[in-house]
Amino acid sequence: MTPLVRRATVLCVLGAALAACGTTEATRAPHPAPSAASADPPPPPPPAPSPPPSRPPVLAPGPAGLTPVFEHGPRADGRTVALTFDADMTADQGPRAAAGERFDNPRLIATLRELGVPATVFMTGRWAEEYPDEARSIGRDAQFEIANHSYSHYAYTEDCYGLPTVSRERMRPDVERAYAAFEEAGVPESMPYFRFPGGCYDRVALKELTPVGVTAVQWDVVSGDAFATDADAVARQVLDGVRPGSVVVMHCTRSAAPVTERAVRTIVPELRRRGYRFVKVSELIAAANGRR
Ligand SMILES: [Zn+2]
Repeated sequence: MTPLVRRATVLCVLGAALAACGTTEATRAPHPAPSAASADPPPPPPPAPSPPPSRPPVLAPGPAGLTPVFEHGPRADGRTVALTFDADMTADQGPRAAAGERFDNPRLIATLRELGVPATVFMTGRWAEEYPDEARSIGRDAQFEIANHSYSHYAYTEDCYGLPTVSRERMRPDVERAYAAFEEAGVPESMPYFRFPGGCYDRVALKELTPVGVTAVQWDVVSGDAFATDADAVARQVLDGVRPGSVVVMHCTRSAAPVTERAVRTIVPELRRRGYRFVKVSELIAAANGRR
């Protein structure tokens, strides 16, 4: 079985609601033949077969078959840049949300829509549970793609910014539970991309996630928006760091990243002035694979 087929199978098993899963044209029951005695007009000709649904591009497995890690797109392939937004909410933050703390950022999403900026949102399953309407709205908007940031937002290694850790045997279920939460929220199709909480990973984590078939997505530009209070400083850091093919990490949570929306209003027109085009992570991965 080729890796591509294996991945597709895993995604179907995950219930990721990919259009590619399930029945195909060839396996559908044929139309009933018209009865010779019937006076009904003949049925219309069958519609032309639609092109096969495209599967999201993924990287080939890394050395020793480990989960591949993507950090940025091609540098010599035009001025593209992917803004990515981590929708963080940790499994134990439910009481804080109940007390009024906002882990979402609807205004940021509205601004991205207003500016016409495609973006990839790395969402935790817990976030999707807390904000199902927003998750569904983002997931149904072709301008965005939803990728996996774990269910719990616990770390996949020791010593990762003080985050609680998820045990080795809980890693894969934690990722799969996030996909289940997206589906429960009504997200029609989520991407086979995974961002490690805190960006912390090691060989063990990459090995544990191999059966899930995801591409791990890191970044090459840190926006510094977490707990920032100066939107201009965040914008400067991004504008100083972006190169062709860059992946910028930002956050979609008012609680921990209150100035991100304002920074985006500076970053977007300036990068466009420099000739950059905003793309989703899937487009950079496709470009890295040599697909257009
Ligand atoms: Zn995060």
